[in-house]
Amino acid sequence: MMKTLNDFDFKDKKALIRVDFNVPLNDNFEVTDATRIISAKPTIIKILEDGGSCILMSHLGRPKGVQDQFSMKHIVSQVEEVLGVTVKFVADCIGDDVEAAAASLNPGEILLLENLRFYSEEKAGDQQFAEKLSKLGDIYVNDAFGTAHRAHASTTVVAQYFEGKKCFGSLLAKEIVSIEKVLKTGEKPILAILGGAKVSSKITIIENILDKVDHLIIGGGMTFTFIKANGGQIGDSICEDDKMELALKIIEQAKAKNVQIHLPVDVLAANSFSNEADTQIVDVDKIPDGWQGLDAGPKSKANFHEVVMQSKTILWNGPIGVFELPTFAEGTIALGESIAEATKNGTFSLVGGGDSVAAVKQFGFADKVSYVSTGGGAMLESLEGKVLPGIAAINN
Ligand code: AMP
Repeated sequence: MMKTLNDFDFKDKKALIRVDFNVPLNDNFEVTDATRIISAKPTIIKILEDGGSCILMSHLGRPKGVQDQFSMKHIVSQVEEVLGVTVKFVADCIGDDVEAAAASLNPGEILLLENLRFYSEEKAGDQQFAEKLSKLGDIYVNDAFGTAHRAHASTTVVAQYFEGKKCFGSLLAKEIVSIEKVLKTGEKPILAILGGAKVSSKITIIENILDKVDHLIIGGGMTFTFIKANGGQIGDSICEDDKMELALKIIEQAKAKNVQIHLPVDVLAANSFSNEADTQIVDVDKIPDGWQGLDAGPKSKANFHEVVMQSKTILWNGPIGVFELPTFAEGTIALGESIAEATKNGTFSLVGGGDSVAAVKQFGFADKVSYVSTGGGAMLESLEGKVLPGIAAINN
């Protein structure tokens, strides 16, 4: 059973929490998007309400050694504002001063450590560095899904020092449960929607989920490798010729596994990759030379809507058109609307990994789906069927 915050009483305990406070800063070192801090709030507040104290550790950006612009000091006031609690800051993350600051922490107090990646030992997963971190708390809590696929000192190695005293924070627990709802415990019919630019970046995911889903919608730039492999004319659409054989193999595997693959039947084609291009609706396998398919066409949208509405569990990864250009965003928006409607009717919907997260946020669907994942790479690796080291380290 997965250990969560509810398995511990944090009264008078010091929780060493790996959070993901890798937030974007502007030129004045102000936080421009506090989503990640807000996401960690439930875990921190629960521990404080138990009567415990919190030692928060994270990385910020990609510093090369100690670099002031990546100091956690820049985010202290934002963390205080989000949590509504005073936050103490210490200008290091290991060593005597930090240990003293942690030791003197009273119940209800929060200590924020300096950027973990000021030490190269963090990413190297250095044992001694992890041991020094472990001295700071009584219970280790990992709530950073965004780095759970990395075997870094603070995400994985440090857990060794907390035998029987480690658990997932509520954010990470939610991520794990959401992925399991799709890959293990989901109500059927289960639908995966894979979009995005390239087959090559999604191939491992496709192979893994063919065993789990009933329907697979393939959209976006990936479409054309499949259509060309089947003998269709794709004009100048994006295509990976060296993946055509693989595409045919996937279609065969899907048949053998009783998975229905749904590809677009028509597309909005353009005569250049530009928002101002001339456009026309054409059949997906009859795209004239000089034209490229950049979004799903009306028949495809209607088909996708139908599949979405009959599914009880939906995973969405990757936009089905070039949604960054408004001319080609309609298909992705329509799909988001369909998923929102299905969710309202009781379907579980998970949006995760890459650009579909940006799309649902941009088009206002984030609150209308069941869960939007906070981790790009970690989500993709989970969908590929990999066991993430940060998760394994808590479960072991
Ligand atoms: P990914 O990061 O794999 O989810 O890929 C997302 C990218 O795929 C976005 O930048 C989209 O613009 C792009 N994309 C989606 N559909 C198409 C298409 N038909 N042709 C070219 N690129 C596309």
